[in-house]
Order: sequence, then C-alpha cells, then structure tokens
Amino acid sequence: MKCSRLFALIFTCSVMLSITSCKDFSNKVLGKGNLKDTITEQLKVEEKIPHLLDRWDSLQKNQILFTVDSLHPISVRQQKRELKDSLRKAFDRHPKHIYLTFDDGPLIGSAFIDSIAKEKNIKVSVFLIGKHANMSKGRKRDLARYESNHLVACYNHSYTHANNQYSRFYNNPQKAFADFEKNETDLNLKHKIVRLPGRNIWIYDNVRKIDLKNGASTADLLHKNGYTIYGWDVEWRLNSVTGAPIQSQESTLSHIRNYMNNKSSMVPNNVVFLMHDDMFQTKKGQQELSLLIDALKSEGYQFEFMQDYPIKY
Ligand SMILES: [Zn+2]
Repeated sequence: MKCSRLFALIFTCSVMLSITSCKDFSNKVLGKGNLKDTITEQLKVEEKIPHLLDRWDSLQKNQILFTVDSLHPISVRQQKRELKDSLRKAFDRHPKHIYLTFDDGPLIGSAFIDSIAKEKNIKVSVFLIGKHANMSKGRKRDLARYESNHLVACYNHSYTHANNQYSRFYNNPQKAFADFEKNETDLNLKHKIVRLPGRNIWIYDNVRKIDLKNGASTADLLHKNGYTIYGWDVEWRLNSVTGAPIQSQESTLSHIRNYMNNKSSMVPNNVVFLMHDDMFQTKKGQQELSLLIDALKSEGYQFEFMQDYPIKY
C-alpha cells in the first residue's frame, strides 16, 4: 500500500514536471514566447547592469564581506587580492577607452588638433574658452573648424579661464557660474559638460571628487543647474613654446598603460587624458602627438567623446 502510494506520488510529480517542461518547450519551438526576442531582451538587461563596476566599487569601498574559517583558511587580505586580480582580468576582456581632451582652445595649435582628428579618424574632445575665440579672426576660424568637424566635440571651460586667478574666481561662485553661462551662450555649446579651469573636479552620476575645496561651491552650483563636471586621470605636458616634452611621449604612454592595467583611473577601462591646444603649435609637439595616437591605436584603444563617459562594464 505504502509502495503504491509512493509510486502514485512519483508519477504525479513526473507528469507535472513534464507538463511544465513541455509547455516551456512548446513555447520555444512554436515561438509563442519568441526565444530570439527573449534572449535579446536578456542581453539588453545584462548590458545595462554594469556587474563588474558594481563589484569593483563594492571592493574599493570595503563593502564585500570576506570570511575565514576552517573550510576556507585564506586570509581576508589574500581573498581581497585574488578578487581584485580576477576583476582586473575580467575588465581586460573588454575594450579600452581613451578620451583625448584638449583644454583652453581655440589657440595656436587648434588647427593641428582639428586636422589630426580627421587624419587619424579619431574622436577628440575640446574644452573651449570664449575669450580666446574672440581674440582674433584666426581664432574664430579655428573655432569654426572645430564646430564643423564631426570628430570634435566642444565643451565648456568658462569664458575667461578665471583670468588665471583661480582662488579669486571661485570665491564668488555666482559670478563664476555666470562666466560659464556666458561661454555656453557665446559659443553656442550644445552639451552641458564643463571642466573647471585650474581644478581637477568631477561631479557626475553619484560621483563627487574635489581636488581643492575652493572651487567646490562653483562646481556644486553648476551641477545643481544640470551641468556635468569632468576632471582628468592623466595629464601630458609639453613646453608650448618649443614643443619640447616635459614628459616624453613614451613615459606618457606608459602612464596611460598603468592607469589602464591597474584600473586606477576614475572608472576602470576609461582613461581621461588631458592636453592643451597650445602644446601643438610646433612641428615637434605635433610629431609627438601623432606618435602617441599611433601607439594607442596599435594597442587597441578606442577613442571616445566625453559625452559618452563613462563606458561601464
Ligand atoms: Zn584650462
């Protein structure tokens, strides 16, 4: 009796299971649920969630709980190191993104930046100063070149560049804010993306990173009014008069590589690279930039606009 009851139970369960799986199967075969669509939907959802970055951020913020017990007798430090290494390797399986950003234009040097973007077919981002654009016919022409080049994205670096008196400028956030607004109107800028003169400040999504306190109020005011503020990860400096490198092209390249490999940029796999337009007014400076771009290309870097920052995985 007991045996037959058990048999009946097993039979009922297996029938139920087969009904469920048949239903599932028939949906797939007959296309009721459209398997292709389902998979595409799943991929879309997965793409939207940056799993790696979430795990990376949690690790950086010490939000992952590691335990040591007899079954798992590995120190927390070691476990953290192993997780970090495995996340780095996972990031390495994704593309490397670099953002070439040029500040303070239009200046002598801008025409070269415009033409090298076309020659190498790469996207570049320029953070512009309205006052410079209004200095002469030549600079106005440089601005027009930038505007008509689909490989150049124009952003806001203030109208006056604080007249290079940064503390005084940032001590009056309202006035500083008005200076950015004037720049946006004068240059007819389409993106609400700014870089603060003389400051490496980032405010975007839920990130707020301030290098010098004086400057924070202006940045917050801009952000409150819908602006995104981007700083930089790596800077390259050349003597603008001679074009002689203060940092050689090779050492700058290895600096970028380190940021990419160690995932020490603000967002892993995304390196924001700062240069200035006036660095490229001599043949020497121009050759250096050309070499650097070729090297980055040969290492598989993808060139992006700041409006697409950050590309998350
Ligand atoms: Zn600047």
